[in-house]
Amino acid sequence: MVVTASAIERITLCAASAAFPQGEDVSSGAASRGTKLHNLITPAIERGETVAECEEGEIDLQPLHEALGAPAKGEMALVYDTELRTARFVGHYIDRNYGEANPMEIGVTSDLSTDADTLVEIKTGSIPVPPPDSNPQIKTQAVALSSFRRLTSVKASLAVLDNKLKWKPIETVEFDALDLGWIADDLRALMIRVNQARDQVARGETPDTRPSWTACRWCRAINCPSRWERKSK
Ligand code: SF4
Repeated sequence: MVVTASAIERITLCAASAAFPQGEDVSSGAASRGTKLHNLITPAIERGETVAECEEGEIDLQPLHEALGAPAKGEMALVYDTELRTARFVGHYIDRNYGEANPMEIGVTSDLSTDADTLVEIKTGSIPVPPPDSNPQIKTQAVALSSFRRLTSVKASLAVLDNKLKWKPIETVEFDALDLGWIADDLRALMIRVNQARDQVARGETPDTRPSWTACRWCRAINCPSRWERKSK
C-alpha cells in the first residue's frame, strides 16, 4: 500500500501504522463534508471564480486566490521518491489512486498548486491542524513540488474553512533550499523506519508501536496490539 502525504503525520508518530494490514476506510460525517467542500472549491478556483455556493451557503474564494497569487490547478498528484529525491506526475483528481510505487515512494496530492512554486492545502471543520511550517503533510507536499519542478523554494499556505464557511487567517510559509533538504532527509529516514516495520510484519513479528490519541484516531491498522484507548474514569 502506498504511503500518502495525508498520513505522514500519523506515520511520523507511529511508523508501524504503515506496516500493519489496513481495515476498511469508514469515513466520518465530517470527512464526507470535507470531501464535498473540496470538490466544490478546487474546480471553482480553477475556473477563476471568487464565490462558491453550496447548500450550507456561500464560500468567499478570494482569500485562496490571494494566497495563490496566480491561476491554479486542483488535486495535483505526484509520487515522490524519498531515496532519489525525484517526483513524477501522476495526474489531477486521481482520488489517491497512485498506482504502483516502490517502497521508498510517497503519494502526494496538493489541493491547489500554481504552475510555479505555490501550493495551498485546504482543511475544513474544527479539528486543530498544525501550522504550515510544522505540518508534516504540507512539508511533504513542498518537497515533492520542489523535486518535480526543480525549485529551490516553495511557498505553502494552509487555509482552514470553519463550520460557518468562513476562512481562518491563512498561514503561509516559504520553505527555502535548506528547509527542503532537511525535510527530504527526514522523509527518507521515516520511510526506512516504515520499511523496517513492514519487514517485521512480513516475518510475523510485531513492530514497535507508538500509541497516542493523535496517531491512533486516524489509524485503521488491523492486528495492532496497542491501540490508544481513552481511559475510563
Ligand atoms: S493503532 Fe496506534 S499504535 Fe497501533 S499502529 Fe496504529 S497508530 Fe500505531
